[in-house]
Amino acid sequence: MEKKQQLYSGKAKSVYLTDDADKLILVYRNDTSAFDGEKLEQLDRKGKVNNKFNGFIMQYLEHHGVKTHFEQCLSDQMSLVKKLEMIPVECVVRNIAAGSLCRRLGVQEGIELVPPTFEFFLKNDALHDPMINEYHILSFGWASKSEIDAMKDMTFRVNDILQKRFLDIDLLLVDFKLEFGRYHGELLLGDEFTPDGCRLWDVQTRKKMDKDRFRQGLGGVIEAYEEVAYRLGVDID
Ligand code: C5P
Repeated sequence: MEKKQQLYSGKAKSVYLTDDADKLILVYRNDTSAFDGEKLEQLDRKGKVNNKFNGFIMQYLEHHGVKTHFEQCLSDQMSLVKKLEMIPVECVVRNIAAGSLCRRLGVQEGIELVPPTFEFFLKNDALHDPMINEYHILSFGWASKSEIDAMKDMTFRVNDILQKRFLDIDLLLVDFKLEFGRYHGELLLGDEFTPDGCRLWDVQTRKKMDKDRFRQGLGGVIEAYEEVAYRLGVDID
């Protein structure tokens, strides 16, 4: 499959058309950004680690009954995916309080959330991805009621599957963000699942093994991503 015209370039990935109108190629770049692009750096090996990491997780989810857009890794930094009509909302599940939840509600980082909590955000960089509710999604026609229900169900299912998988390798899945899209009338998991879009803490030491290392200037960002990939058994080379 050949890369054709570039369709879109995001903060960490570029999206290309292919010969097949139903397929896209994603290129995972080394660009690493935080705070809506205010902090931006190139981190060696990041594109490759995230591409392989995402391929591993998407295949794992498929094996556990979650339908995704992922087709195959094409090279170190490129993957083939189904072309979705993206729904412009982000679905976040949180098992432990961290990040924006702590800032918004004034709660302490590390509090266990029982049951896990769920939030929708609007994908809009200029507005800094504001939190929205189901009524906003319906009133503005971003998704239907059945799509909203399916997105919540699938996000909680992904949480169940991956929380167990990460605990097997001594990592706590603190929270994560998913995006969904339509493919010939069916709702599929799109975008990516990588340490850029989730929080993972070591069970014993509580060391942060995700993009918070970059956001908070803790160093060792890619080393932490590689450590998670190694524990999962992702074949990076
Ligand atoms: O920043 P916040 O605490 O709301 O993020 C919740 C989770 O969603 C984190 O794992 C974060 O990495 C992810 N996220 C993301 N992309 C965004 C916003 C949040 O991947 N635009």
